[in-house]
This record gives sequence, structure tokens and C-alpha cells, in this order.
Amino acid sequence: MDLDTSRPATVLIVEDEPGIADVLGITLKFHGLSVLFAESGRQALELAERHRPDLILLDVMLPDGNGWSVCRRLRGEREKSWDTAIIFLTARDAPQDIVSGLALGGDDYITKPFNVDEVVARVRSVLRRTRRSSEERAPRDVLRHLDVELDEATFTVRRAGRPVELTPTEYNLLRYLMRNADRVVTKEQILRHVWSYDSAVESTVVETYISYLRRKLDRSGDAPLIVTRRGVGYGLRAATG
Ligand code: CA
Repeated sequence: MDLDTSRPATVLIVEDEPGIADVLGITLKFHGLSVLFAESGRQALELAERHRPDLILLDVMLPDGNGWSVCRRLRGEREKSWDTAIIFLTARDAPQDIVSGLALGGDDYITKPFNVDEVVARVRSVLRRTRRSSEERAPRDVLRHLDVELDEATFTVRRAGRPVELTPTEYNLLRYLMRNADRVVTKEQILRHVWSYDSAVESTVVETYISYLRRKLDRSGDAPLIVTRRGVGYGLRAATG
């Protein structure tokens, strides 16, 4: 696919019918795209968080719910965390369904049964539009606190100029803390914002991930960045402290 960026775009195909998923996967790979597959809404959300695809082909009728709710979760809770494009795959061509899908933040829709050439054309067009707009977004969204820099355009984190490798969950947790650098956030707030889609998560997971972050961010000689406020939650060390 002759996109004007050098990195191949990644497309997440969310489709529970193996025959359709195969056809889409083979076609998009043939056109030079990197492809991931999910068979359910839950798997889609997990893969989307882990791999941050450039585009999601999202079937509306899924075994564990529907594509609208997947889209709502991606668009609602994640704020501007990353700009994945979404094209709905729908057998339901009722105008109202299409309108509600686009209102939720979908970029386009394709009605089944589809022609693979049409899918390629739509994917190409949406990727051109969304990739260009993310490149043009300037100045970059960089969060800074003390000597920590978090670049929301490239998902990179540096402390004192030194790159820090974080997992997506660690990154989301640090971003949430940095966006709220002037206050203390409770464990419940962290759970809601960082683990938004999984209500089954234990609240001890917050402590676990705070400790992972501390291990990665604080080296000997560094003043600890994340401060525990007993009985309240967590915050970042104040600039003067
Ligand atoms: Ca389906």
C-alpha cells in the first residue's frame, strides 16, 4: 500500500467468522499491511491496548457484545492516548445503525457482503487521512514533570534524558499520574482510568504496577518520583520537594 510513511501500518481485524477474517487478513497483508486478529470484543480491547494498531476493522456483531461498545470504550476512556482509526464491518445497513456507529467515533463503515477491493480502498483512504492528521498535530503533546518527559505522540518516556522502556499499562499509569501531577489520585481513580475495561481487576494491581514503575523510573541517586499518600492514593513529587 503506497502510504507516505515508511513504517507499515498495523490493522487489527475484529471478526468472529474465520472465513471473513482470513480473506481480510490475506488481502491486507498482500497490500503490505501488518495484520492482527481478534475474535471477540474483549480480545479486541486487549490487543488494541497492547499493539496500538493504526486502524481497527471492527465487526458489529460479536460473540460477547457488539462493535459499538468496543468503539465507545476505545474512544471514551482512552481520551487522546492514541489515534486508532475505526472502520465498522456491518451486515446491518440500516441508516440509523451507520449514523450511530459514526457518532461513536467510527471513521467509516463497510457493509457485508463486501468486495475486497472496496475494503482496500476504504482502509487506504482512512489511513491516509488519520496518519496525516497525526503527523500534522503540532506541537507534540509532551507531558513534563521534574526531569520526566512523556511524549504522547511516540509513546516514549525519558527520565533525565534517558529513555525508559515501559509496557503499555505502565505507560498509561504514568501518563495518568502526570496528567494529574498537581494532585493526589486515589486507587479507585487509577483503576477506573487505567484499567477501564476490566472491572474484574483486583485493586492490588495498582500497587503492583506502581512498584514496577518505581523500579524502572528511579535509579540510585534519583529522588523517588511517585509518592504514596497513606490512606489516600498516589501523587508525583512536587517540584520543590
Ligand atoms: Ca460477527
